Amino acid sequence: MIAATLLALLLGWLTGRPLLFLLLAVLGYLAWHLYNLLRLRRWLRQAELGSLPVSSGIWGSVFDGIHRLRAGSLRRRKRLNRLLKRFYKLAAALPDATVMLGEHDIIEWYNRPAQRLLGLQPSGDVGQNIGNLLRHPDFREYLARGGGDEPIEIPSPADADRMLSVHLVSYGRNRRLLTARDVTRLYRLEQLRRDFVADVSHELRTPLTVIAGYLEAVSDSADELPAQWRRSVILMEQQTRRMQQIVDDLLFLARMENGRQSGGEEPVDVMELLTAIREEAFTLSGGGHSLTLEADASLFVKGRRDELRSLFSNLIFNAVQYTPAGGKIAIRWYRAGQGARFEVRDDGPGIAAHHIPRLTERFYRIDVGRSRAKGGTGLGLAIVKHVMSRYGGRLEIESEVGKGSLFSCYFPGEVLVLFQGNKSGLEGC
Ligand code: ADP
Repeated sequence: MIAATLLALLLGWLTGRPLLFLLLAVLGYLAWHLYNLLRLRRWLRQAELGSLPVSSGIWGSVFDGIHRLRAGSLRRRKRLNRLLKRFYKLAAALPDATVMLGEHDIIEWYNRPAQRLLGLQPSGDVGQNIGNLLRHPDFREYLARGGGDEPIEIPSPADADRMLSVHLVSYGRNRRLLTARDVTRLYRLEQLRRDFVADVSHELRTPLTVIAGYLEAVSDSADELPAQWRRSVILMEQQTRRMQQIVDDLLFLARMENGRQSGGEEPVDVMELLTAIREEAFTLSGGGHSLTLEADASLFVKGRRDELRSLFSNLIFNAVQYTPAGGKIAIRWYRAGQGARFEVRDDGPGIAAHHIPRLTERFYRIDVGRSRAKGGTGLGLAIVKHVMSRYGGRLEIESEVGKGSLFSCYFPGEVLVLFQGNKSGLEGC
């Protein structure tokens, strides 16, 4: 620009028209800029880098700079494309059904096993709402609550004989990933185990009743027996009763697991039930414990009386059996948030923290000898956990060695009924 200005000034001075030549120099300079701008626009419009326009001065360095930036961003784009292709290939090769869901649970992409296991069409179901295609009520409820840590099991919509474990997890903003795994084999094995336990327990019931009957008759006339037989007969009778209790508990658990307990639901008067169980607990304790009951008489639970009796009595009798004589046991039934809470607090020996997560496993006992001596079956807390999950609630255990334990059960509002004055005035919460 400086050289062009000097040349214009020289020519202007020689011809006596400096302004005209200065004007021509400025116009020439502007035309050069315009020309380079047009070349830059043409080059930027090309999809590929193509050949870089060559220029001198300021336009030379502008072209160089922009070329470097474009080359960098093209490299990054190619790398991302490669990564994306690899990801799609990997997700397509997964043996589990994988479905990517966008906003409002709209299907964005799915792999081949999703067609086989979930019955999605080879290409036609992208853009559809997943809830319109998987219509099982358990899945729709799971979808509505946004999935969770635990998968659910539903029959495959493509083949009702197959069982699927379906898991929904959130990622990114409003995005979810749905995976489904074929667990038919595991499900059948589990079903086999349940049926086996239920059948064996059922088969054992009759011979045990016969043995218990004879033993009772013999022990009624124990005075006529030789001294060395008397103790044996009493022990045999005790152990037979324990076996009957184990068989009954196993059958109860099996019935709940198989969902055969449907029907027989009614609004259960919890306060009345707890008062009766407390009386039995007094008898069990032999008056050795202080047993207090504080209960909201207006709170009923819609459910089965036998299940609720088993739940409450297991926790109350455990407190009596594991708390030494003279201990205090407090039973409470009260409104808590949207639901209600049943709790049993004792000042017994307490439970070490590492046992707590395992207490609801079948036959898990901290001290096997002590549990047996007290007639325990090791199934009580497993029953409590099952009953709670049937009512959509949960069992919580807090305990400290030497300080006592708190077993509490939360019942959600949906299973509660409010009693107002007379039984015809029962109202859902
Ligand atoms: P069990 O028939 O042996 O009582 P449960 O399933 O009811 O079986 O209880 C499992 C174990 O939990 C018991 O063996 C006992 O060791 C412990 N346990 C239950 N309740 C209490 C309690 N209130 N205090 C201390 N330990 C308890």
